[in-house]
Amino acid sequence: MLAAEAVPAFLCDEMLAGLARWLRAAGYDTTQAEYRSNDAELVARASAERRLLLTRDRRMLERRGAWRHVVILRGQSIDAWAEEMRIGLGLSWWLAPFTRCLLCNTPLEPLQAGGADRPLTWCPCCEKTYWPGSHTRRMTAALRRWEGGR
Ligand SMILES: [Zn+2]
Repeated sequence: MLAAEAVPAFLCDEMLAGLARWLRAAGYDTTQAEYRSNDAELVARASAERRLLLTRDRRMLERRGAWRHVVILRGQSIDAWAEEMRIGLGLSWWLAPFTRCLLCNTPLEPLQAGGADRPLTWCPCCEKTYWPGSHTRRMTAALRRWEGGR
C-alpha cells in the first residue's frame, strides 16, 4: 500500500501500452518502455526515475532490487488490471482526469478558442487538441467504474 500523500508515477512495459493511456487519462505521470528494452534496462529506468514498473512478466522480479520498483499484474484484461491496481496500490482512478496527453504524457494546457463554451485543452509537446466529446464520456464512464470498484 502506498502512503496516502504519495502519488505514484509509472513505467509501463511494452505489453501494457493500452494501460499507459488509461493511467494518463486518470492523471498519472506514466511513461512507456522503449521498443525492445531489456528487463535490466527497465528496472534501472524505473529506479532512476522513481517510477513503479508495471509488467505482466514475473521474471522481472528476479532482477536485483526489482521488488522495490516492480508491480506484477496478473489479470488478463484492462478491467482486471484496473481492479488490481485499485486494491493492491490503493490507486484512485479519478486523480486528475484528462489533464495529461494520452499520447505523450505531457500535462495539458487550456486552449483559448473563440466562442467555445466547453473547455478545450491541448498538448504543448505533440500539439494534439482535446475536447469533451463522446470519447471522453466513454473514458469517464470506465474511470468512474474502476474508481468505484464495480
Ligand atoms: Zn502530447
